[in-house]
Amino acid sequence: MGLCQVGAAPPSDAIAGHVVKATKAAGSEYAVLVKALCPGPIVKSAPIDSADRDSWHAEPVRAFDDLFYVGQKTVSAWALRTSAGIIVIDALFDYSVEDEIWDGLRKAGLDPSEIRYVIVTHGHSDHLGGAAFLQRKGATIVLAEADWPIAEKMEGPRPTRDARFLAVSGRRQLTLGNTTVDLVPTPGHTPGTLSVIFPVHDGKARHMASIWGGTGFNTRTPEQFSSYARSARDFARVAQRARVDVPLSNHPVVDDTFRKADALAGRKSGDSNPFVTGQRSQQALLTTAAECADASLIAGGG
Ligand SMILES: [Zn+2]
Repeated sequence: MGLCQVGAAPPSDAIAGHVVKATKAAGSEYAVLVKALCPGPIVKSAPIDSADRDSWHAEPVRAFDDLFYVGQKTVSAWALRTSAGIIVIDALFDYSVEDEIWDGLRKAGLDPSEIRYVIVTHGHSDHLGGAAFLQRKGATIVLAEADWPIAEKMEGPRPTRDARFLAVSGRRQLTLGNTTVDLVPTPGHTPGTLSVIFPVHDGKARHMASIWGGTGFNTRTPEQFSSYARSARDFARVAQRARVDVPLSNHPVVDDTFRKADALAGRKSGDSNPFVTGQRSQQALLTTAAECADASLIAGGG
């Protein structure tokens, strides 16, 4: 008892403690996240060859009556249909936006000219690279003010800060027609990372979906690890209050998009939607992320 340091756990035990908690929370569902985030060898994904379409292209998936996956193999983009147009969450790369989002919406039976907003979870090129294209087509780009300095340094076409650009600070709601999306700042992956919560529909059932806006650690600084852990815990509380039962990510490997899409394609009447994994699954994702960030903070960036 007391403040004496004698007998305090050596850092390696403290790291292991967080990794154990992360592993336990993750189970098999988010094992890939433990591998990606907890201290250990850094798993680097292979660079994408934009000229080799087969290596990145994915077909659109209708996950809910009003939610469509229009992302590529390794990066997600989601399209939410409302009564007054479409909200797209993340714009992919400059090279893939037209193929996946614009043409993908058409393939899914939607009219891409009805895209009103593009919420960009953060200012990296795999999510923001296609924003300039969609802005030119008439959509308003929504990005956290805190990520503008990153966006400005991005190679390739950037959205312009004009009437079709909405820089947001703090938590806010974006309403289009009958649908409201809750934009929640979750700094960590970048200073301006946004995570989102919104309703989706599956027949008569209404569910709440969330997208965790930034997965990896970039700068691997103590500040990044601690803000990431804090954001994961804060967002877990927000998601719990909103009863989020459809945890999604902006990278399909995290939420296992394609396996769920396959399961959905084979769904028989009366089966539940495989994307509805429940409130505990949402909490498990964020607990895994927070515990790995804690472990990484103690490990000092390892
Ligand atoms: Zn990123």
